[in-house]
Amino acid sequence: MSDTELYFSLNNYLRRKFGSKVIKLSIDGGFSCPNRDGSIARGGCIFCSEEGSGEFSGDRNLSITQQMLDQTSLLSSKWPDSKYIAYFQSFTNTYDTVENLRKKYDEALAFPNVVGIAIATRPDCLSSEVLELLAEYNSRTFLWVELGLQTIHEKTADFIRRGYDLKTFDTAMKNLGSLKIKTVAHLILNLPDESFDDMRNSLGYVSDMGVWGVKLQMLNVLKNTDLEKHYLSDRFYLRTADEYIELVSNLITYLPPDIVIHRVTGDGKKESLLAPVWVLNKRYVLNGIQKYMRSNNLYQSKNYLDIC
Ligand code: SF4
Repeated sequence: MSDTELYFSLNNYLRRKFGSKVIKLSIDGGFSCPNRDGSIARGGCIFCSEEGSGEFSGDRNLSITQQMLDQTSLLSSKWPDSKYIAYFQSFTNTYDTVENLRKKYDEALAFPNVVGIAIATRPDCLSSEVLELLAEYNSRTFLWVELGLQTIHEKTADFIRRGYDLKTFDTAMKNLGSLKIKTVAHLILNLPDESFDDMRNSLGYVSDMGVWGVKLQMLNVLKNTDLEKHYLSDRFYLRTADEYIELVSNLITYLPPDIVIHRVTGDGKKESLLAPVWVLNKRYVLNGIQKYMRSNNLYQSKNYLDIC
């Protein structure tokens, strides 16, 4: 993180590493999820949409190459010299046979100007065979693995029906760490009944576990999810945009300086979002975080030692 940066963003990390703009291409690899197909449960996580939390991924009915072509054709006029990360985003992207996984990862890596691969998965879908496969990709390309933890608190984890306990996350982190594979933890902010300290403790925990990066986002209530039913009957509190800006700006100060922040706010699809609608105004939130942090003299790591 340089002196002028308030936090160490993925954009900055990738620009420094690859010397140019690097864009993630979101791929739907056609996988399922054990938390939806009955292996663990049927309903899935309470907030999960029909797209398996991959609203902006390509169309799963198209080949991986076609999905990437569709996305790059829209981007190439604005960023003609950019490089790409193939981002397997939707559902659980290690939940298949090793042969199928290899076929799909290889197809994505063969696309022009792809410099790496990002794989979103669950910590309970990392068998020894899958870990071996990931180690192989880690040795030949730039790789990171994303784990949808959302919270360290078991009560909330039960509420969101995450389907695995914290020990499973710990084991996955140790296994991936021993293979020197970079990890990114997803955390959802504003989960019902979680206080600032609860969220800060989740952040501190993943940081102590040695994650390379974090993804933070406001809880989105999407239509046709079980969370929607819960929200409509209970009306639990959802922060305003300005309250979220204050929350995330303060949380960032507890992270060590070398953790890469992949996301500070998400953006759902307008048609599928019920609340809060302000998340669609990503520019307002991003600018608001910059403004809030500057005017309060906040920066990543400012309060890092206080979390230990
Ligand atoms: S693990 Fe991911 S894909 Fe599976 S139900 Fe949860 S959010 Fe959806």
